[in-house]
Amino acid sequence: MKAEVWVKTANVTVPYFDLKAQYGLLRDEILEALDRVSQNATFILGEEVERFEQAFAGYCEVKHCIALNSGTSALHLALLTAGIGTGDEVITTANTFIATAEAIAYTGATPVFVDIDPATANIDPERIEAAITKRTRAIIPVHLYGRPADMDSITEMAERDRLLVIEDACQAHGARYAGRRVGGFGRAAAFSFYPGKNLGAYGEGGALTTNDDDIASMARSLRSHGESTRYLHKYVGYNYRMDGFQAAVLNVKLKYLEQWTAKRQAFAALYRRWLQDANVRLLEDPADTECVYHLFVAYVDNRDKVRAELEKLGVQTAVHYPKPVHLQEAFSYLERTPGSLPLTERACEQVLGMPLFPEMTEEQVSYAAHCLTEVVGNK
Ligand SMILES: *Cc1c(COP(=O)(O)O)cnc(C)c1O
Repeated sequence: MKAEVWVKTANVTVPYFDLKAQYGLLRDEILEALDRVSQNATFILGEEVERFEQAFAGYCEVKHCIALNSGTSALHLALLTAGIGTGDEVITTANTFIATAEAIAYTGATPVFVDIDPATANIDPERIEAAITKRTRAIIPVHLYGRPADMDSITEMAERDRLLVIEDACQAHGARYAGRRVGGFGRAAAFSFYPGKNLGAYGEGGALTTNDDDIASMARSLRSHGESTRYLHKYVGYNYRMDGFQAAVLNVKLKYLEQWTAKRQAFAALYRRWLQDANVRLLEDPADTECVYHLFVAYVDNRDKVRAELEKLGVQTAVHYPKPVHLQEAFSYLERTPGSLPLTERACEQVLGMPLFPEMTEEQVSYAAHCLTEVVGNK
């Protein structure tokens, strides 16, 4: 523990994240953008949405971005535009938000969960092969916590077995794998703009990205009741359109995303430094990736007790996720039992999300890291 960084101010509290602090900094710009949408009365799709689609496609280094009303809708459309449906199997991870698996279920396909590599918390490519059957059509790697999955291994395996790859990039805006931004590695990718994500709207929001013209045009049609032209419907589609207000907020916030990501990365590096002697296990950044730290997690024994102790010290934490998807009641029909994905289950028991947001201070990172060290002890 380095004395110069140990700032134990009795009344410091460290929130898990703080969207109000961010609004304080952006208020004028946001109000002006919302006013513009109101003046133009473009409440659904429209100019701001188109502007955002162009800007976000550029940001992700992909050809197309289709703005939607959520990340879940993006996953659903990514699967539908890949032709996935009843009788198909889709391989993914159970160490994720339930939406990844729900989207598979919406199409009538069956989610097939593969255990994680505990060093990365992401799907273990070495375990995918054994889960492939004649019905397997696609793999959905999740770039959990903003950390790219092992796309070389996954892509190679998918090509060998003629499987499609759909990225769940809902936590990974701007992350890079082998120099390229996530969102363009598979047939399509899903992003979420839920308020707490690295790029968050002021309500629900999401996007599908792709480099394929046909997927882009089908996704555009499906998000708006399967319309080809106004009131001519080619498919039974959905109402998955993005609001003008959300796009206006996202257009303001996208300009700051790089600098916010740099802050997240800097704070993650400080956590790493200040937790090096603590009795915790940390994830390493995989080689040749740039992680965007949607979350900074540590793995600890007696996690719930540690959380309670930290709470008393004024440090808010969170757990993503306390129960893996294969053991959720909603998926009981898959008949997966406890112990069937031991590494995922252990991760869910031990994972502890530390406070991390661009508006926090180094002092707060230091305080949170040192409180955690105090609670769990040294290695
Ligand atoms: C947030 C999230 C989703 C769902 O996004 P919504 O916009 O909330 O529908 C899907 N997958 C992952 C990994 C997420 O973190």
